Amino acid sequence: MKRSLLPLLILLASTRTCLSENIVPDSARAYQYLKTVCAIGPRISGTVGMQKQQELIDTHFQKLGAEVRYQEFDVTHPKTGAPVRMKNMIISWFPEKAKRILICCHYDTRPFPDRETLPFNRVKAFIGANDGASGVALLMELGHHMNKISPQLGVDFVFFDGEELVYDKGDKYFLGSEHFARQYRDHPPESFQYVKGVLVDMIADRNLKIYMEKNSLRYASDVTRSIWATARKLRVKEFVNRSKHEIRDDHLPLNQIAKIPTCDIIDFDYPYWHKRNDLPAACSGQSMAKVGRVLLAWLEEN
Ligand SMILES: [Zn+2]
Repeated sequence: MKRSLLPLLILLASTRTCLSENIVPDSARAYQYLKTVCAIGPRISGTVGMQKQQELIDTHFQKLGAEVRYQEFDVTHPKTGAPVRMKNMIISWFPEKAKRILICCHYDTRPFPDRETLPFNRVKAFIGANDGASGVALLMELGHHMNKISPQLGVDFVFFDGEELVYDKGDKYFLGSEHFARQYRDHPPESFQYVKGVLVDMIADRNLKIYMEKNSLRYASDVTRSIWATARKLRVKEFVNRSKHEIRDDHLPLNQIAKIPTCDIIDFDYPYWHKRNDLPAACSGQSMAKVGRVLLAWLEEN
């Protein structure tokens, strides 16, 4: 008896996984969040749609017991010259922890689907199911699991406003993340420090394939490689272990201005990028859940 038990014990020890590897986000619920966000309509910075989305996010995370804060500032509207009130939203988990991880996405939508071929389509509504809502939906879903993990580091979810309040070539991108990064650099918080960050963008493509993004490797190689290592361990094969695109996104100000090494998890091979058909039908809850599963396991390793 004793002898035959030994191999079993060895087997049990070797297959023991950490708790968070078993946390699988609810793909149906994540997809429902994506649809709810899209049902608001366009969420362009400074519009009623954006305000409705802020209320949705605020209520959601308050209910889950997180701290919700706003970082507000004004910009000049690139088209009309009128002031636009911008709001980054910051949702804090484990607020007592002084070393923190940033998990972020942009939550505004581009004013128009300007990559449409026909000019009259370029002035139609842009819903941004993958480019906008997917990050929001994933973070809303992750909110349900934050009390199940016990990372060494605290976690802040940040929703950036004004990633693409752009109408013409030359209009500025990344208004929210740039403001956030400047504030962090110029007024460093006394009680905490961000040690690394992850940006998620366009992570709901039905045909998900996420390559290592080149700027992420340049500025945040350790963060990027550790996330892909976690994905490999979990056998989430949608994280492809090589680089492909070089993307300018909200992670640039975080890396360059705030000096927070931040990786961009983005599936840039999306046929409806900046097109009218960036709709929930092109998105998948399973894709979001896969990214969420990797992130939760990775967070617990930190
Ligand atoms: Zn976009």
